[in-house]
Amino acid sequence: MIKEVFKPASIEEAVKLKSESIFYLSGGTQINWAQAQADRKLNGKPAIEKVILVQDLLSKEIKKQGSDLFIGAGITLQELIDSSQTPGVLKKAAGYIASRNIRNMATLGGNIAANRPDSYILPCLIALNAEVIIADKEKISVESYDSRKNYLITQIILPRVDGVCVIDVALKSSGAYPSVTCAVRVSDKDVVVALGCVSDHVIRLKEIESGIMDGSLSGDTLAAAVANKIHPKSDLSGSAAYKKYISGSMIAHLVALSQKGAERKL
Ligand SMILES: Cc1cc2nc3c(=O)[nH]c(=O)nc-3n(C[C@H](O)[C@H](O)[C@H](O)COP(=O)(O)OP(=O)(O)OC[C@H]3O[C@@H](n4cnc5c(N)ncnc54)[C@H](O)[C@@H]3O)c2cc1C
Repeated sequence: MIKEVFKPASIEEAVKLKSESIFYLSGGTQINWAQAQADRKLNGKPAIEKVILVQDLLSKEIKKQGSDLFIGAGITLQELIDSSQTPGVLKKAAGYIASRNIRNMATLGGNIAANRPDSYILPCLIALNAEVIIADKEKISVESYDSRKNYLITQIILPRVDGVCVIDVALKSSGAYPSVTCAVRVSDKDVVVALGCVSDHVIRLKEIESGIMDGSLSGDTLAAAVANKIHPKSDLSGSAAYKKYISGSMIAHLVALSQKGAERKL
């Protein structure tokens, strides 16, 4: 339970307040979620009792600068969906969080920082080569963002990328948590394959990407290579064997779709 709340007047003040035991709070949907707190306890982590309110300090604006799109980390997932500037594939990823009540509160920055293995949005951002700006200074890729550090995300940058980004999820029912979340982007210059729910965090399959790029992996051979590469755990969302199978076939399908140029609106 939250026992102490700090309300800094600036981003600089927020960064100064941050420590191992004091957490930023944006939308609060993850921090205040009883399930998330129970999971922390299960993993031997202390309960979150002190928070720093940051959402009012963070921009919600989306603006184009050159060929890059800058998105304020305080934007809610619903605002992201409602903006005409948001790429279609990112709207689709945000829309997978089925509850509008959650989407009205949850922020894009919070989703990246929460770093959940089953995030719908992280695979998509990784496939789009997205970067984050840390407390208005350093710029790092979403892929290398480390949620254990005290970094405050202030902006998300979507650079111009080649090719077509496609995403998909495997769900046992419309209200279920995903068994697998996946994003793929294939272009003449690069391939990105990002996969959720099969490890502690969303992962990128770089060896598989090389095989797709040089043409040695496609269709059934690609599906088999993916299944061999990952080591998911069995849980309520599916057995390890099911997750291996569905990840392989989903990636093979998405690669074929991306190569055909489906979902052209990046
Ligand atoms: C019923 C329910 C269903 C959900 N389903 C999903 C789901 O399907 N997929 C999914 O990914 N998530 C899901 N979530 C979790 C959560 O809603 C999302 O991850 C959300 O995007 C988190 O954003 P937030 O702004 O609410 O984060 P908060 O709860 O405010 O914070 C989450 C974490 O990020 C840190 N943080 C917040 N903002 C920043 C920032 N700008 N910079 C650095 N650190 C920051 C916080 O310290 C905290 O550790 C669900 C939550 C609930 C309650």
